[in-house]
Amino acid sequence: MVLIDGKATANQIKNEIAEEVKAIKSKGERAPHLAAVLVGNDGASLTYVGSKVRSCEKVGFDSSLIRLPEETTEAELLAKIAELNQDDTLDGYIVQLPLPKHIDEEKVLLAIDPKKDVDGFHPSNFGRMALELETFIPATPFGIMQLIERYDIDTQGKHVVVIGRSHIVGRPISILMSQKGAYGNATVTVAHSRTKDLKALTQQADIIVSALGVPGFVTAEMVKDGVVIIDVGITRVEDASKEKGYYITGDVDFDSVAPKASYITPVPGGVGPMTIAMLLKNTLLARKWNS
Ligand code: NAD
Repeated sequence: MVLIDGKATANQIKNEIAEEVKAIKSKGERAPHLAAVLVGNDGASLTYVGSKVRSCEKVGFDSSLIRLPEETTEAELLAKIAELNQDDTLDGYIVQLPLPKHIDEEKVLLAIDPKKDVDGFHPSNFGRMALELETFIPATPFGIMQLIERYDIDTQGKHVVVIGRSHIVGRPISILMSQKGAYGNATVTVAHSRTKDLKALTQQADIIVSALGVPGFVTAEMVKDGVVIIDVGITRVEDASKEKGYYITGDVDFDSVAPKASYITPVPGGVGPMTIAMLLKNTLLARKWNS
């Protein structure tokens, strides 16, 4: 069994990005610049945005954190987005989700200039991805594809079962793995909350990508020997015995499934660290494509 080390792979990608940034700067050009917009004071969002900004500094990017109060109106946020779209010193930006309930997320995502949409959530970028055109691929599925590629996992003609159909993970990874290419060409089944007899499907799967957010959901009897397991789930489980009062776990019952797997991602330390690395990669691509 090979334990897929997402942390080491993410660090390797960040080092590669840092080298490219050095080369850009040595030509006298400005560094890539990523901005993050955070509305309100949600604790988890603050943590995510903070670590995105810190990662920018590590690879030599410029970064801006734009914090707006919880009571910001939709019109005010849209005005800020129009301003960011016009800012020539900015290569890409993200609007941290979830937004406060009085703001229509869809309207906001549609307002982002697709050329600066480094999250890859704009319909035009999502459409380009589905049509196999050059674009920003959403960071988490992009990270999964990088792990598969860098660990040289064979996907040709394999049966992939994706559990979950969200717009940020399940749906895009199902599209990417079924596309033509060295790490595509898989036959993909997308399972979701209405799927009947999921176990019968997962038992046939060569590769399982689990993105539903239920701890211990994928158990040993659901998988065959030699399966590749990509566990995207991240759930905080309260536990008074831990220093932080909780621990982080994935969707897969790691202890029982790992002995049957050929490759498996741990949680934490698997897909999670890749997400920020791929956001940085998209920002570097934005710098190249928009200059
Ligand atoms: P979501 O929470 O929006 O949706 C869950 C999906 O699971 C739905 O499509 C639903 O149909 C499916 N589902 C629910 N119950 C099911 C069942 N019994 N059988 C089959 N399918 C079922 O999905 P999301 O936003 O992709 O998040 C999924 C998990 O991945 C969460 O734990 C989230 O925290 C995590 N996540 C991790 C990263 C990362 O960087 N590693 C990024 C995004 C999300």
